Amino acid sequence: MTPYTAPALNISAFNCPHCNAFANQSWYNSQIGNGVMIEGFRIAICGHCRRSSYWFQTAMIYPNKTTAPLPNKDLPDSIKADFEEARQISSLSPKGAAALLRLAIQKLCVHLGEPGKDLNKDIGSLVQKGLPVGVQKALDIVRVIGNESVHPGQIDISDDPAITAKLFELVNIIASKMITEPNEINKLFDGLPEGKKAAIQKRDGQ
Ligand SMILES: [Zn+2]
Repeated sequence: MTPYTAPALNISAFNCPHCNAFANQSWYNSQIGNGVMIEGFRIAICGHCRRSSYWFQTAMIYPNKTTAPLPNKDLPDSIKADFEEARQISSLSPKGAAALLRLAIQKLCVHLGEPGKDLNKDIGSLVQKGLPVGVQKALDIVRVIGNESVHPGQIDISDDPAITAKLFELVNIIASKMITEPNEINKLFDGLPEGKKAAIQKRDGQ
């Protein structure tokens, strides 16, 4: 998958919210009428489609499109749907998006063979199966797991847009580590000569 660079203030290139191309962006200070500047207001023009995005302070205010990444292509469809819905609402409701992403992580745990009742335990079990412990720590920091969020009905979901942005990445990292990478390794194994594979499987008692 082509890496996606989310639009952000003053960076030289990003995936354009109009044409989706990864393109250089030219930044300008805004002017109204006779050269009056609006403090904190900037305009970026896409080098590919020449259309503008409008920025106030650090937020893109036009077009009103998500800056969230696309879902990992190997995610099951129902989780992709939650992810997509979270992308659609993330700029208007970071808290709503975070709640959907938490649900997506729960579903992903079930998809990966976990019971799906206790997210703390599920993520702990996935760490035993190869999920990097850094992902567990990150989920703890953003309070998707951990003591502060485990009681049903008392989930403390942050409405901090920066935390919601991290959650999108965390869902994709879990999918990449637990689905995409094992699939790629299996494909590599399947492409090896049959005789060699049989010898290895015999050695491993399979
Ligand atoms: Zn463009």
